Order: sequence, then C-alpha cells, then structure tokens
Amino acid sequence: MNAKPVLAVVGRPNVGKSQLVNRILGRREAVVQDLPGVTRDRVSYDASWNGREFVVVDTGGWVSDAKGMAAQIAEQAELAIGAADAVLFVVDATVGTTDEDEAVVKVLRRSGKPVVLAANKVDDQRLEPEAAGMWNLGLGEPFAVSALHGRGSGDLLDAILEALPEAPREPEEEIGGPTRVAIIGKPNVGKSSLLNKITGRQRAVVSDLAGTTVDPVDELVELDGEVYRFIDTAGIRRRVKEASGHEYYASLRTQQAIERAQVCIVVIDASESITDQDLKLLTMVEEAGKALVVAYNKWDLTDDERRRYLEREVERDVQAFAWAPHVNISALTGRNVDRLRKAIDAALEGWETRVSTGQLNAFLGRITAAHPHPVRSGKQARILFGTQAQNCPPTFALFTSGPLDPQYVRFVERRLREEFGFVGTPIHVEVRARQ
Ligand code: GDP
Repeated sequence: MNAKPVLAVVGRPNVGKSQLVNRILGRREAVVQDLPGVTRDRVSYDASWNGREFVVVDTGGWVSDAKGMAAQIAEQAELAIGAADAVLFVVDATVGTTDEDEAVVKVLRRSGKPVVLAANKVDDQRLEPEAAGMWNLGLGEPFAVSALHGRGSGDLLDAILEALPEAPREPEEEIGGPTRVAIIGKPNVGKSSLLNKITGRQRAVVSDLAGTTVDPVDELVELDGEVYRFIDTAGIRRRVKEASGHEYYASLRTQQAIERAQVCIVVIDASESITDQDLKLLTMVEEAGKALVVAYNKWDLTDDERRRYLEREVERDVQAFAWAPHVNISALTGRNVDRLRKAIDAALEGWETRVSTGQLNAFLGRITAAHPHPVRSGKQARILFGTQAQNCPPTFALFTSGPLDPQYVRFVERRLREEFGFVGTPIHVEVRARQ
C-alpha cells in the first residue's frame, strides 16, 4: 500500500533528470542514462529528506526521435503528472528554454499541481544568471542546481517537501474490502480480452457497494457471490499503443497496479515462447511481496507439441515461481476462466497465512536437529528462536547466534513451504544475528 506522496520528475531528455533523481535519493542506485529512448525496468524509488518519506517517479524514458515531439512529450508528461502529488520540472540552464519545455509548462499549468522548478547544470556561479532567466517560464523561483556536483540540492529538497502534501493523495485502501486484483502482462497477451471475459460473466453489476470507494480506473466484479476489485482496468482498456513512450508508461502503470494489488495475475501467452519480459513481471510481483497467479492464455492456439515445449520452458524458466498456482486459460473461448477465481482465493489465503510462534519453533527445532547449520571458522550458528513478524506476505524473523549462510536461509525457506504451504505467495526470511 502506497501511503507516501508522489513526486514526478519531468523534463526533456538530457537535462539531467536521472542524475538529479540520484541526488534526491542520496545514493547511486538509480544510475541510469538520461538518454532518449531508454526504457527502464524501474521507474519509482523511495526517498526521504528530513525524516519525511516520499516516492520519486523518474520519467526518463521519453523517445525523442519521433516527429511532433513537443506534443508527444506534453501528452506523456500529462500522464505522469496526473499520477503525482507534486512535480519537479527540470530544465537545462546551459541550453535555456526550448519548445519542448514550453509544451510541458502548458501541461503543468493546466494540471494545477504544485511545481518545483530546477535549473540544472549550474555547476558554478557563472551560470547563476542563466538559471535566473528561467523565471520567464512563469513557474516561480528557479532553483539553480548541479545534479553532478550536488550544488543547491538541499534547498531544492526543502522546496520539494514544501510542495508535497503531508497526507497521502489517496485514502488508504480499506481493510477487509473486496480483494484487489491486478491483471498484468506484456502487450497482446490478452489482458483486456480476459478482463472482458471476467466482467462479462458477472451476475450483477456492482456499482455502489456499501462503504466502498471505487477508484474510477477500477472495476468491481462479483464472481460466485464474492466481490473483487480489478485494479487499473482503465489502463488495460484504454490503449495508448500509438503514443511514443508507451512502453515506459505501461511499465509505470504496471508498477502502480502491482503496488495497489493484493493478488496479481500475470498473463503469459502460451502460444509463444516465454520471454524475459514475462519473467521480469513475475519478479516484480515477487519483489513487491504480492500474491501471484500465473495464467497461460491462448490455450486454444496450442497444440500438443507446443504444450510439451511450454512445459519444458516452464520447468527451465518459471521454476523459481513454482509456488504460484497456474491456470491454462483461453480468454477467447472462456476455457478455465472460472478457475482463476479459485486460484486467486488460494493465493490470497497463502499470502495471509499466520503461523503461530509455537508451531514455528517446533518446526525450526525439527529441521535444525536434522540439518544443523554448517560450521564456519570453528563456529556453528544456531537458530535460537523464530517468529512470524508479519503476513501479507508471510515474513519470518530468525534470531540466531551468528550469521547464516544464504544457502541455509534458502533451505529454511524451502522447508517452510513444504511444511506450511504458502501457495501463491512470496515469503521472506530475515536473519537477526546476535552480535
Ligand atoms: P492485451 O494487450 O494484453 O490487452 O491483449 P488483448 O486482449 O488486446 O489481446 C491481443 C490479441 O490476442 C487480440 O487480437 C485478442 O483477440 C487475442 N487473444 C486474446 N486472448 C486470446 C485467446 O485466449 N485465444 C486467442 N486465440 N486469441 C486471444
């Protein structure tokens, strides 16, 4: 659940957005080139300044070779700005304002969102007048910064905090409300077909369920008497494939949908080879700690040979996600679409599982007796005690007499799954070694 305010960083390619994001994050993690056409796997980062936390969305992936660039940039900026609480608009003081900058300014004005203006590449004092010239954008005071050297970044961060709301932009998703499900997958795997099949099947149109606020991009769907909230269906239905940078925005939306969801259905095209992009999405869900269901779609297009081959691909590539239930479906014919509901419920159950401390320690006692930790430099780390720190996803803290080998931690994870199931959910094991 994302309760932190969101800052979108907007600007033409090559103005130094990524470097500035790195400055804001205060670490080198996001080092990515601010080059036209570069798309990234990750676009949002957790940041904090003076004890306040916020999320930085780096909109770096704009494509610049297309014609009508100013209009396209404006369109894309609009999408990013719409999702943000405040905007950091970055311009290049050494270049001055361009048509593309002006196009973005129009969007910024219309949005009514608070804007902080950064005039970047002011590496030394001589460029200060250039930065001051940016007053003419009509966005208020330009902050002269050098993302490269860190000049001015403290003042800039103070201004950012001032622009961001204290409270989250969206109300917290209600606890105990409908299960929040995101359908994700690369383009053309059949997400919108699946959504149509699912919504076409519902017995009643649920529009105003008591006590439920519905984000206009979501759809509430009743399946077998249970209500589910399908997240960001507007993003699935409204196809913006023509726009340049589509891929980038698709990945931004996907990331946001995963964050809001409890259960993610990753749709994979069974009629074609499994791709890196499919695996990346599975990894994103796992890393976000969400429940996972894998749907192999377009089953109607597969023949025996393809199925045998798919089986081998799954064994080779998707083995790391063997804990996730999978369903072979056809969004076209409706085959097995009803089974998805059962898979969603199973994954959710795994995700919410709580293991009592007594049960957990009895289990830990058994496995460590049978398989003690190997001796390292004459010492043997022991697990003293364990507890489930939280669920959704299940997270375990192991208190130990010393550091554990990573392989041993993985062994414990495997055994935890064998013992308690955890169908459809990632699990985390944290080791707290006594000093
Ligand atoms: P999205 O981009 O993931 O939303 O994919 P769409 O739902 O738009 O589907 C892309 C194309 O695949 C469309 O032409 C669909 O008709 C087709 N398609 C989707 N699901 C199936 C399926 O189960 N079987 C077959 N044969 N075609 C499908």
